Amino acid sequence: MDSAADFISIRGLSKTFGEGTTGEVVALRNVNCTIRAGDFVSVVGPSGCGKSTLLRILAGLIDASSGNVSMGGQAIRGTRRDIGVVFQNSILLPWRTIIDNVMLPAEVLGLERKAARQRAHDLLAMVGLAGFEDKLPSQLSGGMQQRASIARALLHDPRILLMDEPFGALDAMTREQMNLELQRIWSESGKTIVLITHSIPEAVFLGNVVFVMTPRPGRLDCTVPIELPRPRTMASMADPEFVARAQEIRALFNAAGALH
Ligand code: ADP
Repeated sequence: MDSAADFISIRGLSKTFGEGTTGEVVALRNVNCTIRAGDFVSVVGPSGCGKSTLLRILAGLIDASSGNVSMGGQAIRGTRRDIGVVFQNSILLPWRTIIDNVMLPAEVLGLERKAARQRAHDLLAMVGLAGFEDKLPSQLSGGMQQRASIARALLHDPRILLMDEPFGALDAMTREQMNLELQRIWSESGKTIVLITHSIPEAVFLGNVVFVMTPRPGRLDCTVPIELPRPRTMASMADPEFVARAQEIRALFNAAGALH
């Protein structure tokens, strides 16, 4: 798993929406970075700096205007089976049970049904939802629905989990709980995770490294390694390393004039 081919490599990536029109928006300009297999990467930056655009390009949902993005040595073009995505609003289908929602990728990708169902069960247990398989989404809290969407994103066993503000709609207490859960899921599953977040504490708490983006057009200003031991707990937030890294990132935002 450690060969260079397992890395995600982003080189000279730019994205302009409405290219050639008067309403042209340069969302990303010359982004360069490398993501190691099994890494947990947090991406922070001010609103509108292009974080979601970067994630959608990584997911193969939209094309770059220029530059190269590759995974395992292959260019990312179009949606790929080895990527799972979780968005802020979990978009579970309200009329399907939790397990049938988690099974959706099996239907879309034509996976063998029995094996996929077993895997859905196992994943629901991993995200702490054993016993909720036959409930409807409306019977679950927001945090539980997000756990179900994480299980769904992992059903087809992708190598990379891309998460766009997955806990942004949750209250602060649930969000802290979900951060602990996500750390556990990451360490148990061995996946590479790219997490987009507005929250500097969340980015530092979860990441092995934090990518800090500039205001639009987004560039990758700096990568900040986080050397806190794992598993991290709520007490880690009082650790001098945590405080120092969070301050460092905040200072980068301030320097870029990004804090309002
Ligand atoms: P972030 O996730 O950091 O808030 P986004 O990636 O959503 O930022 O957006 C970056 C910029 O690109 C914003 O100015 C946004 O308005 C613009 N943008 C995003 N998607 C589109 C689109 N489909 N068409 C035009 N402009 C877009």
